[in-house]
Amino acid sequence: MLSDIEIADAAELRPVVDVAKEALGIDPAHLVPYGHHKAKVDLGYLQSLDDRPLGKLILMTAMSPTPAGEGKTTTTVGLADALSALGLSSMACLREPSMGPVFGMKGGAAGGGYAQVVPMTDINLHFTGDFAALAAANNLLAALIDNHLQHGNTLGIDVRSVDWKRVLDLNDRALRDVVVGLGGTPNGYPREDGFDIVVASELMAIFCLTESWADLKRRIGDIVIGYTRDKTPVTARELDAHGAMAVLLRDALAPNLVQTLEHTPAFVHGGPFANIAHGCSSVVATRAALRLADYVVTEAGFGADLGAEKFVDIKCRKSGLRPDAAVVVATVRALKFHGGVEVPDLASEDLGAIERGMENLARHLRNVREVYGIPCVVALNRFPGDTDAEVARVVELVEALGVRTYPATHFADGGAGATDLANGVLKLLENAEGLKFSFTYPDELPLKEKAETIAHRLYGASIVTWDNKAKRRIERLEKDGYGGLPVCIAKTQYSFSTDATLRGAPTGHDLHVREVRLSAGAGFVVLVCGDVMTMPGLPVTPAAARIDLLDDGTIVGLS
Ligand code: ADP
Ligand code: MG
Repeated sequence: MLSDIEIADAAELRPVVDVAKEALGIDPAHLVPYGHHKAKVDLGYLQSLDDRPLGKLILMTAMSPTPAGEGKTTTTVGLADALSALGLSSMACLREPSMGPVFGMKGGAAGGGYAQVVPMTDINLHFTGDFAALAAANNLLAALIDNHLQHGNTLGIDVRSVDWKRVLDLNDRALRDVVVGLGGTPNGYPREDGFDIVVASELMAIFCLTESWADLKRRIGDIVIGYTRDKTPVTARELDAHGAMAVLLRDALAPNLVQTLEHTPAFVHGGPFANIAHGCSSVVATRAALRLADYVVTEAGFGADLGAEKFVDIKCRKSGLRPDAAVVVATVRALKFHGGVEVPDLASEDLGAIERGMENLARHLRNVREVYGIPCVVALNRFPGDTDAEVARVVELVEALGVRTYPATHFADGGAGATDLANGVLKLLENAEGLKFSFTYPDELPLKEKAETIAHRLYGASIVTWDNKAKRRIERLEKDGYGGLPVCIAKTQYSFSTDATLRGAPTGHDLHVREVRLSAGAGFVVLVCGDVMTMPGLPVTPAAARIDLLDDGTIVGLS
């Protein structure tokens, strides 16, 4: 089979104005094209659709993955294409890839095989410049903070408490911890600072939860950049930063329209980390898609314990959006991985390992149905090495749990490979099993109890423990009036626990909260459990080493 980039390059793309007009009924006057195959859709126009009925929202989530990823993005595209092929009006809503992983380890994030969004190289690289706008706005606030310190610090900011970092959209471990302001009086006050990757910024989370320009500015104003010496929070509003930052993000807030290889329209917009943020593409794009199409498939990051939980408890809670159904992606290799098989051995048939690994998928399915109350099916994303016996065994085992399972080959076959899945989702939407959508915990629960509820109900943990510093911070946040916010748990995606090596469905473990961070503008409190990287490094052999520009201008090596 051809590589992702070869398939994407060989594709015949339709002009984006035609996709917008024919599939979504959007007049070219409401598009801001970036070349021929990408366009932003005017926000004013999208707001004018407010009285249209909403389409069905389908959440793509997954079991706990192997390090390679199990195919949520790919399956989101495959399902949207399969629905279109059935003659239905459908759209995909995806996150914008970060250049960190593109040049680092994981590669791009525009799907794979014959289930991709295109133009693939553009989407994976600078795209429509949203990330550059986010970096500029973020760094403007950082500059305003240092400028305020330089010119007298009238707000009385405790320099040591400033935790608003600078950002860029690359993996660069050397910038994790830096000292700024060196070089004497004209250059400011020396202080410890650091860089995060753009997608790990609070601003990215804000951008993706925002409803409108007014809401964007208000949320930016609420950002807490640090504290005064008497521990009063200092906001971006007090630095008069919010207006100018919103200006830098004005155009970026309009969602980006592209197409799949089969010309299904897709919004690719915003892309927060799924650990210290909520890991979903923008509310603006999801809501717009639901006005424009009858079926909208959208992906949440990581497994259903993290991405889907945050989709429910953060994105849905804040926006009022509600998923009508969920698709849980499972793979034979992830089931074998949770059944104890090591990565190099995943290619060999092993029915026993599948049986043992099923407990991981089973817990995710229970969480999705019984905790979030979302009806779901399983998409078994078929990889080339999966044997028929293995696939049959997975179907049998999952169906014994009362959940319909659809093997899908969209990676190899495009939308046609996900027709059964699409029909299964349609059937599920008609007959929603009487489940009632629900948050994992109510707003009023104190922050600590929110963490305990998630730990007990979703992770199978028996207790939540806190570093002393984390405990003091959470108590302080309750006093400062942030106790009504949802929590955003930052932990490994490889396990229900905080120990990446604990596979399957562990019970009785301890959820240890090491650090607490306030994202007041985004509107959540981050509980850091385990090591969380907000500025990744590059691996021994980064993807950058095989990415190249040929003499004729062709880009090669992106995956
Ligand atoms: P996720 O969104 O869950 O992280 P992706 O859809 O990005 O996963 O897929 C992860 C990687 O696996 C990508 O490189 C993708 O091309 C590849 N992939 C996904 N599905 C398949 C499949 N069925 N066969 C082979 N490779 C696949
Ligand atoms: Mg993905």
